[in-house]
Amino acid sequence: MFQRIRHWRVRRIVARHPIPDPLWQAALAQCAPARRLGASDQAALRVLATLFLREKSIEPVQGLVLDDADRVLLATHACVPILKLGMDWFDGWHSVIVYPDAFVPRRTQIDEAGVVHQSRTPMAGEAWGRGPVILSWAEVLRAGQRPGHNVVIHEMAHKLDLQNGVANGFPPLHRRMDPRTWTEVFSGTWEHLRSEHRQGLPLPIDPYGLENPAEFFAVVSEQFFEAPGALREHLPQVYRQLERFYRQHPY
Ligand SMILES: [Zn+2]
Repeated sequence: MFQRIRHWRVRRIVARHPIPDPLWQAALAQCAPARRLGASDQAALRVLATLFLREKSIEPVQGLVLDDADRVLLATHACVPILKLGMDWFDGWHSVIVYPDAFVPRRTQIDEAGVVHQSRTPMAGEAWGRGPVILSWAEVLRAGQRPGHNVVIHEMAHKLDLQNGVANGFPPLHRRMDPRTWTEVFSGTWEHLRSEHRQGLPLPIDPYGLENPAEFFAVVSEQFFEAPGALREHLPQVYRQLERFYRQHPY
């Protein structure tokens, strides 16, 4: 019954608030992972993006203005990872806060010695457990300019990871996935890349992914959608696990 109500609601939202074709075409032109999809997947993505725009609140700050085309583009990027998972995977949060450029989160951290640190690192994006996603619009527009980079997909991957508690690179896996295989592949690859990086060897991913397992999952997720061929070539086991998790075959 719930399913039927939801389907009916979805149909009504999509019928009443369709994304106009020119805006949709413009979003496809700027979002390579969406552009690469087949026609029926693109249609499904358009439905998800429509729902995203109804269910989430996009809140530009610091004088930034986002028009309808910008919002459609953001929603399109955001829904790429959930194309085969569904909108439920974005349950539990509501807002996307968008800064014009890199932002410095006003956050204090207390280290093991009890010292309070004020974080001053400019960020491109951030995702909180049950809180907002925070993005730099300049960074959103840079999607794909550096191969394998997409800040919206990165933050949405954190959101999926957070669906079962903490961000640790271990999102809720589907029934037929083996958690031990996931852990072996992700931990093993992460450790291996860290040791290669220490030896000064070139990395097949953004070194930011070596920060911790959560960042590793987010970084390889970006690459899975933006530069799938390179990820499959360099980290085939990780690629295969992501194929099973996202239920997509971008390459
Ligand atoms: Zn991150």
